[in-house]
Amino acid sequence: MVIAQNRVVTMHYTLKDEQGETIDSSQGHEPLAYIQGIGNIIPGLEDALEGKTKGDKLEVTIAPEDGYGERQENMVQKVAKSGFQGDEELVVGMQVQVETKNGPAIAMVSEIEGEDVTLDLNHPLAGVTLNFDVEVMDVREATDEELDHGHVHGPGGHHH
Ligand code: ZN
Repeated sequence: MVIAQNRVVTMHYTLKDEQGETIDSSQGHEPLAYIQGIGNIIPGLEDALEGKTKGDKLEVTIAPEDGYGERQENMVQKVAKSGFQGDEELVVGMQVQVETKNGPAIAMVSEIEGEDVTLDLNHPLAGVTLNFDVEVMDVREATDEELDHGHVHGPGGHHH
């Protein structure tokens, strides 16, 4: 069975950045399971996997526009330190939850200068060219319930 729309793909993957540093990997864990064609994973990886089958191994390089998008400078904002509540001290690199006009979002503290805190709301992998090593472990039809929920049930997916 080949990978096509609405089929469940189980795969092992290793993701590296342009410098060859490993960002994420399923090795040593359960393989990842996702449903092809419904946006469970980034579009560039779906495109590369379409038509592949169990046992196929592939190396894929994905440009930011087919991955997590380009960095957007308007998603970097300066806010007042006094706007943060809680006892935890703000440090550069930490992630904080913020309210945006589109609802709650995760931002990274990218700079602290006096009373000014710079928050970066870009996805951490925005602007990054992604290098995937993928091995297809299994391909099967999704169940009606999985398509209804928009995610895989069982190994590598949701347990509920
Ligand atoms: Zn479900």
